Amino acid sequence: MFDKILIANRGEIALRVIRAAREMGIATVAVHSTADSDAMHVRMADESVCIGPPPSPQSYLSIPAIISACEITGAQAIHPGYGFLSENAGFVQIVEDHGLSFIGPTAEHIRVMGDKITAKDTMKELGVPCVPGSDGGVPTLEDAKRIGEEFGYPVIIKATAGGGGRGMKVAHSADEMESAFMTARAEGKAAFGNDEVYIEKYLTTPRHIEIQVFGDGKGNAVHLGERDCSLQRRHQKVFEEAPGPCITPEERAKIGKICADAVARINYIGAGTIEFLYENGEFYFIEMNTRLQVEHPVTEGIFDVDLVREQIRVAAGLPMSFGQDDLEINGHAIEVRINAERLPNFAPCPGKISAYHAPGGLGVRMDSALYNGYSIPPYYDSLIGKLIVHGRDRDEALARLDRALGELIVDGIDTTVPLFHALLQEPDIHSGDYNIHWLERWLEANMGE
Ligand code: ADP
Repeated sequence: MFDKILIANRGEIALRVIRAAREMGIATVAVHSTADSDAMHVRMADESVCIGPPPSPQSYLSIPAIISACEITGAQAIHPGYGFLSENAGFVQIVEDHGLSFIGPTAEHIRVMGDKITAKDTMKELGVPCVPGSDGGVPTLEDAKRIGEEFGYPVIIKATAGGGGRGMKVAHSADEMESAFMTARAEGKAAFGNDEVYIEKYLTTPRHIEIQVFGDGKGNAVHLGERDCSLQRRHQKVFEEAPGPCITPEERAKIGKICADAVARINYIGAGTIEFLYENGEFYFIEMNTRLQVEHPVTEGIFDVDLVREQIRVAAGLPMSFGQDDLEINGHAIEVRINAERLPNFAPCPGKISAYHAPGGLGVRMDSALYNGYSIPPYYDSLIGKLIVHGRDRDEALARLDRALGELIVDGIDTTVPLFHALLQEPDIHSGDYNIHWLERWLEANMGE
C-alpha cells in the first residue's frame, strides 16, 4: 500500500479523497493555486504545495508542476478527482513514466472511452446496447443530411471529443441540419480542438440512467447498480438518486451484468460509469466516464461502500474488497448539487461566505469545502457542496432532503438551494415522473429561463 498520495484537485472532491486516505493510514499532499492558499483541502491535507497562479492551465492542469510536487514530497501515487486531469490519457502516461501510480484507469482505457466514436464502437462490440446512429464520424453536411433522412428527425449531432454538455446540437428537421452540424463542429473545435462529429437518433423522452462499474484490472469487475440523473439543466446534472425510481430489480441485474462483463473483458481498473439513456424499457449507451463521478456518494449510500478506498486499493495492486454477491441495495439515496450561482439565470456568484452551517443528523452527508469566512475564488467551477441524504425508501429520503436543506446555512453569496426547495414542492418529483427534459421545461415555466 502507498504511504503517501497526492491529490491533483481542489474543493469537495479533494477533501473526499483526503478523508479516505486518512482512514487508510495514508499521508496526503494537497496541491493548490495561489488563489486557493486558504482553501479547506490545503488545511486538511498533511502537506501542501503551491503549484502556480489562479488560472487552472497554469496550476491544476500543469502536469510538470504536479509531477514536481510529487517528487518534492515523495508522494507515490496521484488521485485526480474528477474534472481537471482525471480523463487526460497523456497525463496518466507521464505519471507512469515517472514511476508514480495513477489512481484510476490506464491511459489506454481513458483514450478509448474519451473518444466517443471509439467508445461506442468498443461498447457495441462488447454487447452493450447503443443509440442508433451513424457508423462513426460524419465528415460532410451531405452525409449528415442523408443520415437524418435514414434515421428520421430529430437527430443529435455530437462532437466525438465532447464533454460537459458541449458540442451537442439537435436538428428537428432537415432545415435545421446545416446550422446544427456546423455549430456542433465549431464547438468541438473550439472547446476540444477536434471538429469530428457523429449523429444519433435524438430520444425525446428518455431518462438518464448510469451504471457504476468497478474493476480490479485483472479481469474481475462488478456493477453497483444505477443512478438516475434525469434532472438536468443544459445537459448538466443537478439532482441524482439511487436506485432509479423506474428501474426494476430484473432490469438492474440484466444491464448491470452486461456492463460488468464488458469492463471485465477489457481488464478495466478502478471506478467507471457507463451512461445510458433509458426509454420504453430499453437502455441506449451514450458514453463511459473513466473516473469517479460527482454523484458517486448516492451509490456509496445504498451499498455502504467507500469507492475512493477501493480505487486506492486496486491502484496499489490489492483485490477489491467486495464481490458482486456482497453488494446489496439498502434504501434510497439522493444528492443535490449546490452551486454558487444566482437564480433565476444561474449566473456564477463567487464571494465571501459570512456564515456556513452544514446540516447533520441521521442519513445526512454534506460533502463541501466551505467554512465560515471562506472566500470562493472566481476562477473555478461553481460547485460548492453536495448534500446527500439516505433513507429507508425514496419518500423518507425526500423528507430528509427537505429537512436537511432547511438546516443548511450558506450566507454571503447566492446559491442554488432555493431551486431544490421549489422542486420539493412538485408532485412529479415525489412520484419520480420525469425525463431529461422535465427540468428545462420547469425552469422555463417557473424561472423564465
Ligand atoms: P457529455 O459528455 O457532454 O456529458 P453525453 O453524451 O453524456 O455528453 O450526453 C449528455 C446529455 O445530453 C445526456 O444526459 C442527455 O440529456 C443528452 N443526450 C445525449 N445524447 C442524446 C440522444 N441521443 N438523445 C437525447 N438526448 C441526448
